[in-house]
Amino acid sequence: MTPGSGITRLEIQVRGIVQGVGFRPFVYRLATEERLAGWVRNTSTGVQLEVEGPESSTSAFLRRLREEAPALARIEEIVTERRDSQGATLFQIRDSSFEDGKGQLVSPDVATCADCLAELMDPTNRRYRYPFTNCTNCGPRFTIITDMPYDRPSTTMRSFRMCPECQSEYDDPSDRRFHAQPNACPVCGPHLTLLDAHGKVVPCTDAIAKTSSLLTEGAIVAIKGLGGFLLACDATSRHAVSLLRQRKQRPSKPFAVMVTDLHVARHHCEIGDAEAALLESPAAPIVLGRWKRESSVCPDTAPGLVFLGLMLPYTPLHHVLMRDCQRPLVMTSGNLSEEPIIADDDEALERLSDIADYFLLHNRPICSRYDDSVAMVVDETPQMLRRARGFAPRPVDTPFRSPPLLATGSQTKNTFTLATGHHAFVSQHIGDLDSVETLDHYEATVSLYTRMFRIEPKLIAHDLHPDYLSTHYAQQMASQGLRPIAVQHHHAHIAACMAENAYEGPVIGVAYDGAGLGSDGHIWGGEFLICDFRTTRRAGHIEYLPLAGGDAATLRPYRTAAGYVASLFGKSTVDDNHSLRSHIAPEELSAIVSQVEHHLNAPLTSSMGRLFDAVAAIAGIRYETSYEGQAAIELEAAAHRNSGIHGSGYTLPVDNTPEGHIVRVGGLLTAVLRDATNKRPDTEIAAAFHEAVAQMTTTVCEELARNSGIHTVALSGGVFQNRLLLSRVWELLRTAGLTVLVHNELPSNDACVSLGQAAVAAHAE
Ligand code: ZN
Ligand code: ZN
Ligand code: FE
Repeated sequence: MTPGSGITRLEIQVRGIVQGVGFRPFVYRLATEERLAGWVRNTSTGVQLEVEGPESSTSAFLRRLREEAPALARIEEIVTERRDSQGATLFQIRDSSFEDGKGQLVSPDVATCADCLAELMDPTNRRYRYPFTNCTNCGPRFTIITDMPYDRPSTTMRSFRMCPECQSEYDDPSDRRFHAQPNACPVCGPHLTLLDAHGKVVPCTDAIAKTSSLLTEGAIVAIKGLGGFLLACDATSRHAVSLLRQRKQRPSKPFAVMVTDLHVARHHCEIGDAEAALLESPAAPIVLGRWKRESSVCPDTAPGLVFLGLMLPYTPLHHVLMRDCQRPLVMTSGNLSEEPIIADDDEALERLSDIADYFLLHNRPICSRYDDSVAMVVDETPQMLRRARGFAPRPVDTPFRSPPLLATGSQTKNTFTLATGHHAFVSQHIGDLDSVETLDHYEATVSLYTRMFRIEPKLIAHDLHPDYLSTHYAQQMASQGLRPIAVQHHHAHIAACMAENAYEGPVIGVAYDGAGLGSDGHIWGGEFLICDFRTTRRAGHIEYLPLAGGDAATLRPYRTAAGYVASLFGKSTVDDNHSLRSHIAPEELSAIVSQVEHHLNAPLTSSMGRLFDAVAAIAGIRYETSYEGQAAIELEAAAHRNSGIHGSGYTLPVDNTPEGHIVRVGGLLTAVLRDATNKRPDTEIAAAFHEAVAQMTTTVCEELARNSGIHTVALSGGVFQNRLLLSRVWELLRTAGLTVLVHNELPSNDACVSLGQAAVAAHAE
């Protein structure tokens, strides 16, 4: 600063998500309004700028920099230093400056903004109905980025040369398309093509209008979107929906539905303020809402369920299509059963040709495959069920510093986490690691994240399970010199919940899920842990029971039920239960009894998920499943339908043993068997069971709190995706005076496991 001049010059570094979100034009406008000179540029770590002018203006500038930042920006840190005045008079936007080896944050894809939507629907605008309209506030981001820095040549837009009009928007600091990397228009940008199932072009003047009329006539259309192909059909047509189920070989797993806007969403589902905010957020996830009776969406869209997944249009293509169609559309991942979403045109034409009648393609390549995210709201709090588009790769801020490390995650609902410093980059939902396609997707995404965020891992964390493909991958990496760290599955669950809540522990951890290998070699899943990031102690669990046929039982809840009942009370008790017995062939029942009696292929489990399965089967709600968690989801649905008081009648007594608190389930199973025989409504049985689990959970936590002096409880595991259980446990624990931590950024299912592994590995000595 020049003495006496009253002029200040500041150098300012801004870190966070400040690129690809309109930050430099915002700085330019602010500086101009405050009549400041200087410059701004993107760097490897964020945005750097210098401003020069009267002290009152620079301090106003600094205040407004925080307060008025673009909606999509996430400022993590602003560092200011005084510099000598240079007598500058102009404000400029300078070229980006990048040092290698330094990572920066990348914005997830963003749903179409209000300004772009207005242009899209304006017949006089040059982008009227143009399906690739975007600006610095919206549009594709991570799905088109091939490397950093985020500039057009490092995106899949590189092959499109901007026309003069687009170029002048791109170059004009006052334009909302200034440096909008995917900027495009009908003259210079990507285009749609409509093909039939044989790959032949369908002649039409307007591909979206034609697609709309085909959908209205009952066709199934594969639509290339942001992160991959979605399969669409008319959600009000019973015929179209059942055809899609048949062809996709997906008999009952629920489909999500896209509706035109919030107003229409409210016609189909009960949408509270929190649900509405999520639906309309820039991330625009699928949100579960209680399905209304008067909804025209056909029941087969989510068979047997009381909640329906809705989403709003999130690309210009969707907006135009939904306006043309004027009806809700099923939109489900374009893949075969549990394989990753298909993103490549040729692959889609080859692999989806038996499912789709038509293909709506475009020529903007997809770099990263992304599924739609799924969320729900429990007690006004958003809960993620699947985290992908709109959320990843935004990092989770951790309360601890990590050395550069990779956590390889679980086997099902896999994500991995790449961590360094206070950032944990949890990948988008990858899927179940049990096919070559998913494993390829996994490895490709690991290498993309490693490259993009410039993280070279030194540690590699993995599950204890030797057969998980994520564990194999970790072993491969360990052979290349990375230090391996094995983390028990449920410890990882609880550590993830702690990390998200920036809580260092210790906590009482309640981990309820389907299965995870325990440190004693048995299958855990109904666990009470006392843990922090460094250590864990198993303080209680559901009693061990034999799982007849091992993994085979997970698709056949009746096997779990029969095995449990037979091992606790003998075969005759199974024989006494008419409904259970009538669903099992006599030979299969003998096989089950012999497996549990002779401990043959009947691994011991303490799983809460399997207890839900057993109760669902005994109550006659679900004997066999076609998707993971189906029995538990339908048991919850039955409980939601129960109009009576959350009737109890069931208890889960807890024994205090040298091994900790052991939850006994025999009494409850006897009561459910008796009630099922006496034709007690399954809705009441379901509600009473939920209540018994919630009461037991609270009793054990209170006891552990008394003995340990720890008064914070962390809840994790896929079973807590049950909103009834989560809400009730939460309420009871709070009433008992305990502090409750739940997931909010990540799902409580196995998608969170990699973050927990990363947290534990970051604390390994
Ligand atoms: Zn926009
Ligand atoms: Zn153009
Ligand atoms: Fe799990």
